[in-house]
Amino acid sequence: SVKAAGKCGYHFFDESFYDALVSRHQREKELRYALDHDQMVVFYQPKVDIATGTTSSLEALVRWAHPTQGIVAPNEFISLAQETGLIARLGEQVIEKVCAQLAYWSEHTQQLVPVAINISPTHFQNGNIVEVLSSCMKRYGIPASLIELEITESTMLENTEEVTQAINALRKMGVTLSVDDFGTGYSSLSQLHSLNFDVLKVDRAFTVRLNRSKDGNILFTTIIKMAHSLGMRVVAEGVETLEQIKTLKAMQCDEIQGFYISQPLPPADAQPVLPKWFFPSIM
Ligand code: C2E
Ligand code: MG
Ligand code: MG
Ligand code: MG
Repeated sequence: SVKAAGKCGYHFFDESFYDALVSRHQREKELRYALDHDQMVVFYQPKVDIATGTTSSLEALVRWAHPTQGIVAPNEFISLAQETGLIARLGEQVIEKVCAQLAYWSEHTQQLVPVAINISPTHFQNGNIVEVLSSCMKRYGIPASLIELEITESTMLENTEEVTQAINALRKMGVTLSVDDFGTGYSSLSQLHSLNFDVLKVDRAFTVRLNRSKDGNILFTTIIKMAHSLGMRVVAEGVETLEQIKTLKAMQCDEIQGFYISQPLPPADAQPVLPKWFFPSIM
């Protein structure tokens, strides 16, 4: 058996290690199959303007419609996609689906809102994200005003020439650029500002700390003030209570997103969001 351990008791081919290898290989095969057979679906979660209660944009969040496991969350497969180089294909499929969805919605609704697409750091560094996005937008007739990109703070940490160039090219295209999960990395606001980001999405970890301690509130207020003074809008991620919303409103946060307002929705359910889906419960 693979479990034949040496006398020292340390065995490389430990059964769980072997199982992990096999299942990892299996998962990679399944992921490849999923991309070949169009098993990825995109859900949409609204971001709401805190002052008016209206939806200002939607975030596209990928899910794997697995034939036996049901809907699988991205945390289960994004890192595998990154490690195996499949992330560029995955990202391209999400871009394609979002553009197709926007084209469909523009035929069927009056007021379109922009959609934000998450871009992985590795896709950003290795792929030809600018070409892929611009050709897809052209093909579906989607104006830049309807596209936002969410780029995690960790991408900026590897502030390579490539990343800076890609960001500048995207800026020229006119798409909106957001920093995702702000506060989880160590980038400075001035660094983000020099790259001309439009929006700062403050990580859920900071939202969770609101009203729990004085420090939690001071941190959030300070981030909002600094972002505003640099001309960036602020979105609070992971808002789950009305109490948090009241506090964020008092702090002049611009937008909120979270389960209190809406879970990510399948496209058919997200459609009513488009003619300015209004959330009176937060007013
Ligand atoms: P993210 O971009 O920061 O997205 C926010 C995540 O928090 C989403 O999880 C969302 O469902 C969840 N969330 C929203 N509101 C709340 C709340 O009130 N409470 C809590 N506890 N969670 C909330 P999801 O959809 O599982 O996505 C996880 C991460 O996977 C995303 O984090 C993003 O980094 C990545 N991801 C999702 N879709 C894509 C994609 O199409 N491409 C790439 N490269 N990454 C993606
Ligand atoms: Mg995001
Ligand atoms: Mg985020
Ligand atoms: Mg996050």
